[in-house]
Parts: sequence; C-alpha cells; structure tokens
Amino acid sequence: MSAPTLDALVSLCKRRGFIFPGSEIYGGLANTWDYGPLGIELKNRVQHEWWKRFVSQRRDMVGLESGILMNPKVWEASGHVSNFGDPLVDCKKCKQRFRGDKLLEEKIGVEGAAVLTLEQVQPMLLAEKIKCPSCGGLDWAIAKKFNLMFRTQQGVIEGEGADIYLRPETAQGMFVNFRNVQQSMRKRLPFGIAQTGTVFRNEITPGNFTFRTREFQQMEIEYFVAPGTEGPIFEQWKDDMWQWCLDIGLAPERLRIREHTKEELSHYSSRTIDIEYQYPWGWGELYGLANRSDFDLSQHQKCSGQEMTYTDPDDPMKKFLPYVIEPTFGLTRTVLAILLEAYEDEKLKEDDTRTVLHLKPIVAPYDLAILPLSKKEHLIAKAEELYKKIVQSSGLHIDFDITGRIGKRYRLQDEI
Ligand SMILES: [Zn+2]
Repeated sequence: MSAPTLDALVSLCKRRGFIFPGSEIYGGLANTWDYGPLGIELKNRVQHEWWKRFVSQRRDMVGLESGILMNPKVWEASGHVSNFGDPLVDCKKCKQRFRGDKLLEEKIGVEGAAVLTLEQVQPMLLAEKIKCPSCGGLDWAIAKKFNLMFRTQQGVIEGEGADIYLRPETAQGMFVNFRNVQQSMRKRLPFGIAQTGTVFRNEITPGNFTFRTREFQQMEIEYFVAPGTEGPIFEQWKDDMWQWCLDIGLAPERLRIREHTKEELSHYSSRTIDIEYQYPWGWGELYGLANRSDFDLSQHQKCSGQEMTYTDPDDPMKKFLPYVIEPTFGLTRTVLAILLEAYEDEKLKEDDTRTVLHLKPIVAPYDLAILPLSKKEHLIAKAEELYKKIVQSSGLHIDFDITGRIGKRYRLQDEI
C-alpha cells in the first residue's frame, strides 16, 4: 500500500466530516482546524484507548486534569520564559520572518540545524546562500530568540502586571501537583501521573495540515522513579510506546526511533528519543520519551520555597527528589498518522477507484452500520428497532444511513 498524498487526505477529511478548515466561512484562520463528527469520534477513541491502557489498567498510574492557565512563576521555574524559543530571522528586503533553523535544515540536516546557536544562524544562512522563500533576496538580519508561549491577561485591567501564559505543555501541571497526588493517593515509587489536554505554542512556521498547529492536544505521562533506577524504566516505556504504535495500526516500516544527540537535548533532559513517523513529506516526530532527571521538581522546590521531596514509606529518614521519565504522545499527531496509514485509493476496474480507510476497530469512528435496503416503512421500522437494541446492549458506535442507493452507501462506509 503506497502512502497517500497529503492533499488526498485533506480532501477526504473535509468531504467525510473528519477535519474542516477552521473559521472557513470567514476565509479561515491560518493553520487552524476543526474536528468534524467523525474526527471527534476517532480522536475520542484514541484518547480513550490510551487512557484505558496507560492509566485505568495500571496500578502504578493515576490521572490528573490541571488548568490551562497557571501562575506565571511556573513557567519561570520550568525554564520556558527564558529558554522556550526558536531562532527567528527577518528578511530585510521584504520584512517577512522565518525560522532560521528550518531554512537551514535542507542544507545541513535536521540534526545539524537543531544544534545551531542563535549567533550561528545568520552567518550560516549567508554562507550557505539560503535565499528568502518569499522574495528570493539574500539579506538576512541577525537572528533573534522568539518565545513560543502565547501571552494573555488575566482579569479586567490590561497591562497591570496580570500577564499570564496559555500552557505550552501539560507536564508542569503534573509537577506542581506532585505532592498533592502522591499524598492523597498514598502512592509509592515508581508511579506515574497522566494528563491529556490542549496546549498552545505560537509556532513561527506551522503547516502540513494538523502536523504543526498553534493549538494541539497532548497525552502526557510523568513517571516518577527513585534516582538510579531510571535506565530499565526508560527502556520499558520505549517498548510500551512502540507497541502502542503497532496496536493503533501504524506500520513498523513507517516508524523509527531517533536518539537525540548531546547538543540537541533540551535544557532539562539527560536522554531523549523520538518515535518518528514517515509522513508524506518525510520523517517527523510523532512521540517523545525523555529522562527529565529531577530538574522540574528541584526547580519548583527552589522557586516556590515548598518542599517537593518524596519520603520513603519504609524509612522516614530517607527523603529525596524523584527522577522523572516522561513519555509524551501527541494526540492530534496520532490522529493524523492513523488517517495517513489507513488511507488507500483502491483500483477496482480500469476507470473505477474507491477510497478505503483501513482503520483498526479500536479507533474507527463507527463499529458497524445499519443500512436498510430501501425506504419502505416496515424495513425502516425493523432497522430502527435493531439499531436501538444494539446501541443499548453493546455501547457500539453505529451509523444509520437511509439516504441514497445501497451501493453508494456501501462505498461511503468504506471511506470511513
Ligand atoms: Zn524576503
């Protein structure tokens, strides 16, 4: 099965109610997307499966839902205020702005571009003769750091020191609640907290459909362990994440694991891997797994003045800051990968093709369809009776369609 083009998928998603362009009747808002009736079913199922597997069915996991708005000091402690940014370059000729590292990726590779320092970006663009994608000029200003957090104000008075941020990740909500969760649930190490939810990043160059958007959803776990035990636990999570990819229907030949180089590692991490998927435009990140050490807990302990330690229940004298292994799953990206993987334009005869989505039953928007052969009253009544019976007894998701020729309705079902 060959991979579909992105355009073919975007078109199916709109035609069949998976994903619509955001604010479409007003000409849209760049790179925003709305999930339609089938898209939300698919997304909910992915999220539900994930929660079931990684939270409900594990004794060592609990869930949390923290706020999108948090005290701005959280983001100072986490390093996001000072470190969470991309190198931005202005074209002096046409005044357009671009991400310097992205412009260089083709010439020096993704890994090479990721390790550039801010000072290296502009000279490198000139040395490699990278032209402005907008006007073709070669007149780059010095690169500046651009913070990716969305800023807004809390309360009724603007600009009165009430600046806050929309969260750029779900992780910090779990760190600041570490003691609340551990003590209320009387959890022993190792244990994890999971959270799913929307996060916001003011990306300079979003694109590729729902791959990079400024608002997206994460399914994230912070797994707390005793320092020194993180090695095998990291490996176990790597295996569990890989198995999840296979179970939701992604083909192993379109998946790979990429280990981050030392220079590439985030400020908090001692080891990070990405699980990458082969999208129509090339390999790109799907999931990440990081060893965050005790960076976050120790930062929050320092900045808040509150104790963030864990006390060994067998030895109350033993108090320490746990280490953290962090598996991060992009929910929106998972939905995109599943759709790409499932899409097929199947050739039937000379001039006849049909579009088929080969979705795994655990994520498919509908489990079955009831399609009465005609609109005759007794047939419809019987079908409705059957529909009610199955829905009430099984909880299955059922489509009920009486519009159009039966052959056409079969085809419509193949597409979803
Ligand atoms: Zn330009």
